[in-house]
Amino acid sequence: DPFSEKLRVPEALTFDDVLLRPMESRVEPDDADVSTRVSKGVELTIPILSAAMDTVTEAEMAIGMAREGGLGVLHRNMPVDVMEAQIRQVKRADELVIQREDVVTASPAQTVREVDEMMEREGVSGAPVVADDDTVLGIISGTDIRPYLEVGDRDEVREAMTDEVITAGQDVTAREALELMYDYKIERVPIVDDEDRLVGLVTMQGILQRREHEDAARDDAGRLRAGVAVGPFEDERAVAADEAGADVLFIDCAHAHNLNVIDSARAIAESVEADVVVGNVGTSEAAEACVDFADGLKVGIGPGSICTTRVVSGAGMPQITAVAEVADVASRHDVPVIADGGIRYSGDAIKAIAAGADAVMLGSYFAGTDAAPGRVITMNGKKYKQYRGMGSVGAMRSGGGDRYLKEEKDDEDFVPEGVEAATPYKGTLASELHQLVGGMKSGMGYVGAETLPGFKQRAEFVRVSSAGQTEGHPHDVMITDEAPNYSPQND
Ligand code: 5GP
Repeated sequence: DPFSEKLRVPEALTFDDVLLRPMESRVEPDDADVSTRVSKGVELTIPILSAAMDTVTEAEMAIGMAREGGLGVLHRNMPVDVMEAQIRQVKRADELVIQREDVVTASPAQTVREVDEMMEREGVSGAPVVADDDTVLGIISGTDIRPYLEVGDRDEVREAMTDEVITAGQDVTAREALELMYDYKIERVPIVDDEDRLVGLVTMQGILQRREHEDAARDDAGRLRAGVAVGPFEDERAVAADEAGADVLFIDCAHAHNLNVIDSARAIAESVEADVVVGNVGTSEAAEACVDFADGLKVGIGPGSICTTRVVSGAGMPQITAVAEVADVASRHDVPVIADGGIRYSGDAIKAIAAGADAVMLGSYFAGTDAAPGRVITMNGKKYKQYRGMGSVGAMRSGGGDRYLKEEKDDEDFVPEGVEAATPYKGTLASELHQLVGGMKSGMGYVGAETLPGFKQRAEFVRVSSAGQTEGHPHDVMITDEAPNYSPQND
């Protein structure tokens, strides 16, 4: 073929090139249901993931995301043992029954003073008292201790404790535990086995925390969901993450349509129980290569806000077209699709769903919230938080270079595909998510779809010219007050 044939190029579109066509509707945004699947086996109540980046998702973000019904994906710029601890932290955060090894206990022969100091140190206000063989003898709390602190803080715990202790069996439900607490005016119920040995603890505070987050993303045991990024070829990390309880592993690679990466992803998928999402891909061919073993596909070659892949390498796929190409293949195999990167507004997120995604992943949108790692910095009187690409020099220096299939080297040897930046400080994660999900639901109202799968089928696009693009943003005015969901700085 003559080379000039190559210039008959297909067009590829991104968020600003399209808008949702308004359609007949009876759907009120508030009634829209945004629940979805992020992988074959994992459902979420909101279709949102936080990016696996070291300035976005560690345990605190993952806990916050899951409590709101989404999923946080822990980054992999941390040693395996730290990753394991963070997964456990997420899985444990809202657990109904605190497991034995995490329960602070007292022994009958300790002095009241010792127990008082221990409870203070551990940040608990009561503790089951157990014998050497873990049999529950009683329970001691601040109320029991207080009178002794005045006169006899050297007295033994066995004197001060409440010995008529109310316990429950391992199959107790939240409702039953709460009833016990109300009936007996107590705040904690030790969980015991058939031989009265301590196996866990249910607290009033834990139950109330769970109630507050009815729509949280939970596993079958009621624990919060956790996602974790693992590199291709990082089999050891993958197995460790799986054993620590991760629900979804994300094979984290800038170009998953590399056949070595696919071989490794396939092997990892075969060796773990967790679902395995493979990414990133951006074409139908890449999707074809993964659909037989992947539990989900993640799309995004170069759309990210901190990403320089397209300028550095000259390769990439505008995101709306990339999502649609992958979704064409994935939907035939019932594999969920995640649109990763480039989302600045809630409107972008719902456009990604219309193009065929089941969920969206965002980095910059969340990097400025309290739940992201890192501290708030002030420049020229404005507050910011750090946000950097995992392919930036700074992030690669601390261990993320292999995402870009690059060897570790000296600083000047890196060929980065991302930048280090600051992003405006935004306050709480919950309020950012409220705006994001609220805007997506508005989109569903304009299209007249009550569920995400329905929306995906029904939504149509119109093409936007550059004049239309200008018209679509506030124009011919000077913005005096920033809206909570619109900042001109994003343009
Ligand atoms: P954002 O939501 O900020 O637009 O994009 C976040 C996404 O960008 C991440 O989930 C990840 O897929 C991608 N990403 C993160 N760091 C880098 C980087 O350094 N280079 C490139 N090319 N992409 C990155």
